[in-house]
Parts: sequence; C-alpha cells; structure tokens
Amino acid sequence: MERPWDRVADDGVDLLQRLLRLDTRNPPGNERPAADLLNSELRAVGLEPRLFEPMPDRVSLVCRIQGTGELPPLLLAGHTDVVPFEEARWDHPPLGGELHDGYLFGRGAIDMKNHIAACATIMKLLAERGIKPRRDIIFAAVADEEEGCTWGSRYLVEHHPDEVRAEFMIGEIGGFTQYINGVRYYPIQIAEKGLVTLRMIARGAPGHGSMPHRDMAMTRLGEALAILGSRHLPVHITPTMERFLRTVAATQAPPTRWVLPQLLNPRLTDVLLDRVLPGELRNVLSAQLHNTVSATMIQGGLKFNVIPGEASCTLDGRILPGQRAEDLVRELRALTGDRVEYEILHTTQGMELPDPDSALYRAITETLGRHDPAGIPLPYLVTGFTDAQYFGRLGARCYGFSPLQFPEAHKVRFADLFHGHNERIWVEGWRWGLRVLWDTVQRLI
Ligand SMILES: [Zn+2]
Repeated sequence: MERPWDRVADDGVDLLQRLLRLDTRNPPGNERPAADLLNSELRAVGLEPRLFEPMPDRVSLVCRIQGTGELPPLLLAGHTDVVPFEEARWDHPPLGGELHDGYLFGRGAIDMKNHIAACATIMKLLAERGIKPRRDIIFAAVADEEEGCTWGSRYLVEHHPDEVRAEFMIGEIGGFTQYINGVRYYPIQIAEKGLVTLRMIARGAPGHGSMPHRDMAMTRLGEALAILGSRHLPVHITPTMERFLRTVAATQAPPTRWVLPQLLNPRLTDVLLDRVLPGELRNVLSAQLHNTVSATMIQGGLKFNVIPGEASCTLDGRILPGQRAEDLVRELRALTGDRVEYEILHTTQGMELPDPDSALYRAITETLGRHDPAGIPLPYLVTGFTDAQYFGRLGARCYGFSPLQFPEAHKVRFADLFHGHNERIWVEGWRWGLRVLWDTVQRLI
C-alpha cells in the first residue's frame, strides 16, 4: 500500500530530526553516523547505497536508482557535515532536534540536513513506488563540505567519477523564500565565487621597542589593512548578477526599480552601494559584484620590546566566476602599492552557468509557479563555495535548489540562520519544499 503524502512528509520530518541529533561537526569532521543512518533508511526500501571512507569516519554515501538510460543521470546532492556552534547562545540545544512553535531547531537545519532528509525521502519514495525513471537518479550525501570538500565531493569526483557523473545536480544554496519590499523571491544558485587564501606580508627595519621609527612592518601592515577595509576592488558584472538585478528590478516598485539596474553601470556601482543601499543589502551585493578579501588572522612579533622585521596576515579572498587568483593579487597591489607583498596559499575557481535555462531550470520554475504563483524564481550568485564546484567539474549543470518557505511575518532571515545561532527550519515550509522538490524531480525523470 502506498504511504499517503502526509505520512511521507511526517516520516521525512522524523528523519530530519534524527539527522539533527547526530554530531557531524566539522571540524573535526565525523560524518559516519549520518551515512550509517541514511544507509539503513535506504536499505530498508531495497536500495543499495555505497559508502566511501577515504579517511577514518569521513564517510560519504552514494545511492543510485537505475533508470532506463533514455536520459543522462540526475544527481541529488548534499553534505552531512555541519559547522560548529556556540551552544550557550542558542535557545534550544543545537544537537537536540527539538520542535518549538512549528520550528525544528538544530545545527544543520538549513545547512543542509534539510536537503539531505528531503533527497533521502524522495529516493525512498521512488523505490517504494517502483518508479522506473528515464534517467538514473543518484543521491550523494557527502562529507567535508564545510572545510573545503576534500574528503567528500572532491574525493568522489577525483577517485570515483562514474559514481557521481550527471547531467544535472540539485544541491544547495537556493529555493528558500527571500522577501524584498514584500515581494517573495526564490533565489536559485547557478553561480558561485571561487576561493583564494593569501598571506599579506609587510616588511620593515627591526629595532628596539623604545625607539619607534618610520620603517616598521606593523605600521605598513596596518596601513594596508585600513586601505583594504575602506575601499572596493574593481567592479565585475557577471551574467548571473545582470539577470538577478534585472529580474528583481522588474518586479519592484520605484525607486528600487530604478536604482537596481544602475548597479550594473560600473561608474555608479560603488557610489550606490555605499550611499544609497541599506547595510545588509549593501554587503551581499557588494560581494556579488567585486572580488573581495577579509583579513581573518594576523601573525607577527616576538616580544613586547622588539620591533619585528616582518608582520603578516591571512586574507580570505573570494573571486567572481571567470576571475583567477592572479587577477585578485593585481587588484590588491593596485590599492596597497609597495607597502606589502602577497603570497597565494590556496585557490579554487568559481563556477557559473552562462545561461540558467535548461530542462531542470524549467522544471524548477514551472513547479514553483504551480505551488506558489506569486513567488518569483531568481538566478543567484552565491558568495561562498559549495560542492557544486566539484560536481560541476564532471560536466554537471549545478543548481542550488532546496525549496523551503518561511512566512514573511515570522521575520526569519535565511542569511542570519546560515551558520548562525538558533539555526532552525519552519516545519510547514519544509513539508511544502519536499512536495516542490518531488514534483520537480517528477517533471525531469
Ligand atoms: Zn552547506
């Protein structure tokens, strides 16, 4: 007998709750309990997942439902690790999976055990109902996204590419409600920035702390930091941001309707960001329109009375799709001159679909249109990195779409919950999203 839909959703919520109670914090990283739980859930309906453990306890799960082969595979992907938390700042235990006022609390509630639970539910349902899709459906619940993907998506892509190669990937970050002046949007990730970690090094003459001079490394480092903290790097307009801003503008009333497209004019971008837009919007748009650096760690000095000959800091640099680490260094040098030198420590490329349109994108927008006619899908550039940058290397067109509603009246902002305190999910909104994801997958298979 088929489980009725409400029962399916109840079971999904229960699975999400159990996932939230597992401690998969990264660092240090221990995804084994999540992989074990998903493994037993999927085996219970006759599926045969494979587990990959390139490092002890760093386990990723891959499960495949064979299709007829008419179409290339669809990959449903997510990570089971979560970022650490400061428990004292939470109203309810971050590993409790507790339900309060319609919200399920827990680290990973939106990043991204919600999507893992939804994908696992869809896999179970496909198996239970004996659906033979036209394409293979692959579910990958991977380790280690939060620390750079090494033992999860990157490992699978480099060592087991046939397990996860697909035409389309559905993962994070997107599909959640975002309200701008009362209009409801569903951002869908089709682009993300790359990462460049750098060391910024200042050198100077050493000396005795009792006799300051004009050639001190610390002073130079401070000057360079002050410059980087107060200036923008050059503007770069990506196709995704152009689509994003034009779509939002077209659905807003004046003056937003007039202001947003002006951001696409590089001579006006920075003035508008700094003088016209409110703070929270400014920060995200600024990061979407520039390469950026944040100084995150500082090194230097030996003793209170010794002027060091060198001081340095670590910069967390983010580059737009199409940009390279060398481009970022060139832009930084143009601002800080010869005060400091830069050393590139680590770099990854961003990724961007030049055009979002595809069978999957149409399935997403049509399904959203049916379940929320007033909501507007929005191509979106994510400023962080996700597993998409690795799965995309095998040719998949990657979309961030884990549908989820928050009512506007609850004043819950997705951006605040992401890695934030009291991470939580509105259960009704998750149940709605499960149905949307299921219907989207149905259209595609
Ligand atoms: Zn995530």
